[in-house]
Amino acid sequence: NRRIVLASRPTAAPSADNFRLEQVAIPALQDGQMLLRGQWLSLDPYMRGRMSDAPSYAPPVAIGDVMTGGVVSQVVSSRHPDFKEGDLVMAYTGWQEYAVSDGTGAHKLPAGFDHPSHALGVLGMPGYTAYAGLIDIGQPRAGETVVVAAATGAVGSLVGQIAKQRGCHVVGIAGGAQKCESAVKELGFDACIDHRAADFAQQLQAACPRGIDVYFENVGGAVLDAVFPLLNIHARVPVCGLIAHYNGGSLATESSAILRRVLTQRIRVQGFIIFDYYVNRPDLYAAFQQEVGTWLKQGKLHYREDVVQGLEQAPEAFMGLLQGKNFGKLVVKLD
Ligand code: NDP
Repeated sequence: NRRIVLASRPTAAPSADNFRLEQVAIPALQDGQMLLRGQWLSLDPYMRGRMSDAPSYAPPVAIGDVMTGGVVSQVVSSRHPDFKEGDLVMAYTGWQEYAVSDGTGAHKLPAGFDHPSHALGVLGMPGYTAYAGLIDIGQPRAGETVVVAAATGAVGSLVGQIAKQRGCHVVGIAGGAQKCESAVKELGFDACIDHRAADFAQQLQAACPRGIDVYFENVGGAVLDAVFPLLNIHARVPVCGLIAHYNGGSLATESSAILRRVLTQRIRVQGFIIFDYYVNRPDLYAAFQQEVGTWLKQGKLHYREDVVQGLEQAPEAFMGLLQGKNFGKLVVKLD
């Protein structure tokens, strides 16, 4: 069994020596356990947080432990009453090819699930994040302007498409011309602005002539600085992520200036962690599966995956995710 463990903690951007590829024996199965062979490993921004021991909403990965991650696997053999050989399951078994599981946190994929990797993206954690954050906190209404950054990514691409389905004017923000073109032509956004452009803030203002009613926050940094002055009275800001700061980039924006604008514009800012919604809002989860699942089947949603081959490529691909090198939901094909 090959696995990737955390070798050391990064202080800035992660580098190859923070990871170590190991070969270990697969332990024998006990009663109540099953052996899983990983097919698809999800790579997600939150993993940068787990590499650090700074206080957070979840405990860090210990040095020498397998990197955390969601994996779609096939059951190879089972001594667990609820799972049988051949079942496809999604579980947080981490960056490894095989895992022994007692079923904790493991969910069977429904029969006839067309694309198993979708359980890690559009129909999984990032998809539900987009849906819950936008619908429950953003509460977009037809005719309003919705802005989302990391617009072609796993979360952002769905946020914008749901907002379009709700009749909103949708403006994406993405890194580079190719991603911006895809946001407009493939995802159907009304506009998409390149955050690396020198006149980014002016372009954003021009694309939002009626201001911004919902800003779905994925990145922070210079993007947030450009968005904030454009927020309308009673704007809503679901704070989902701040990826521009995950490698330790300073939180440069003056927080009191931000709070002043929150006050004068009566803006509602709310952070959220999607795990709470899994626990507390089964109703919303069911609505997400139903609505997004149907759109996907009907071909009304565009979903792009960025697939890398082989476990050994995971560190490099993950480091690229934190620099915008991925184009679409990043997954690793194991085998
Ligand atoms: P993506 O697939 O969108 O990939 C990350 C993207 O972030 C990159 O492709 C890049 O896009 C952008 N990015 C990276 N670095 C920077 C930077 N310095 N400045 C601006 N943009 C940058 O990832 P996800 O869709 O999985 O995640 C999007 C956000 O949602 C993240 O912040 C993540 O932490 C958050 N999240 C939060 C959850 C919660 O429970 N609150 C759950 C899931 C995700 P580009 O090249 O276009 O700039």
